[in-house]
Amino acid sequence: MKPDTLLVHAGGGLEPGSGAIAPSMHLSTTFEHTPEGEATHDHVYIRMGNPTQDRLEEALSVIEDGAESLVYASGMAAVTGCVQTLEPGAHVLMHRDVYSVTRAVGKELLPNWNIEVSDVDMTDLEAVGRALRPHTALLWAETPSNPAMDVIDIGAVAGIAHAGGALLAVDNTFATPVMQRPLQHGADIVMHSMTKYLGGHSDVQGGALVFREGGDRVERARRVRTITGGVLSPFNAWLVLRGLRSLGCRMARHVANAEAIAAAMTGHPGIEGVDYPGLPDHPGHAVATRQMDGYGGMLSLRVRGTREDALRVASKVRLIRNATSLGGVESLIEHRQSIEGPGSVTAPNLLRLSPGLEAAEDLIGDLAQALE
Ligand SMILES: *Cc1c(COP(=O)(O)O)cnc(C)c1O
Repeated sequence: MKPDTLLVHAGGGLEPGSGAIAPSMHLSTTFEHTPEGEATHDHVYIRMGNPTQDRLEEALSVIEDGAESLVYASGMAAVTGCVQTLEPGAHVLMHRDVYSVTRAVGKELLPNWNIEVSDVDMTDLEAVGRALRPHTALLWAETPSNPAMDVIDIGAVAGIAHAGGALLAVDNTFATPVMQRPLQHGADIVMHSMTKYLGGHSDVQGGALVFREGGDRVERARRVRTITGGVLSPFNAWLVLRGLRSLGCRMARHVANAEAIAAAMTGHPGIEGVDYPGLPDHPGHAVATRQMDGYGGMLSLRVRGTREDALRVASKVRLIRNATSLGGVESLIEHRQSIEGPGSVTAPNLLRLSPGLEAAEDLIGDLAQALE
């Protein structure tokens, strides 16, 4: 079935006993077990899993074409839940433009655990090959990347990772499974910040890992999650599941708006460049065309001039709000270098834009008046 259909039905099914079409939310923290501690039904304790999380995990596995999924309290809990399965002495290779807090995991946490981290431009496949080390265990890609909109060839990087005995994880937050299913291109693990498009309404935080294969790797990650406790709450699982149902429709509008804005801003005298993989002159356009179904809802605008010129544009928008995060129904803009702080590799004149579900004309009008 097509992704739009799977999004509506995956992890669904009637509630046993009531025939309810919409899923119930199970808030119980504990479940009956035998005097010896064996579950009499499927669950024992909320930190290990509960029926509402199960539905969401099942839905994500179907939608991303994976064997199993694990859901976490946030996207960052999913990132750390993934790297905490690595052994001390391992090496992790990250794309140079990954979400700034993912980079912080690499810079501030992994060295303390005796895990080495280095950066490479994963759009340069030869550089990826050269950057691999004998003890490289994991490559961490993000495509399109936040906020530079780099496009990484998932199949090619998976091939290099596997030849070197390493796994490839792909942060699929920007693309969503509607546009891109990295496991089908050879990635081993997909990560989502469900706080963004999957939730879709700027009112729920969550993260997920989806695994191409079941078995030891998933069980190890599940064990880490049970020990560290960064599991998704039932309420948030329920909200994300609700969000998934409309993701196909929402992405269609997000993408149409991103395309309209990219076209309107290209060649605008106040704009130095538009970073959107759907534009034919984007360096990742050919790869994106091959591995994505549509070019996603996010774009970045490089304002002509300096950091101050970019900040002035951001201060003049009226409909579009200055706020972090993305993928909600409302349009958001952000000067990423300011929010990323010291160590940011983002261009000083870059504004990241998350077009919402408003009419494209109104968004373009707002940007045009802010650029005057
Ligand atoms: C927001 C985001 C994250 C982190 O997710 P949280 O839910 O905020 O913890 C990771 N990767 C990308 C690309 C993101 O946009």
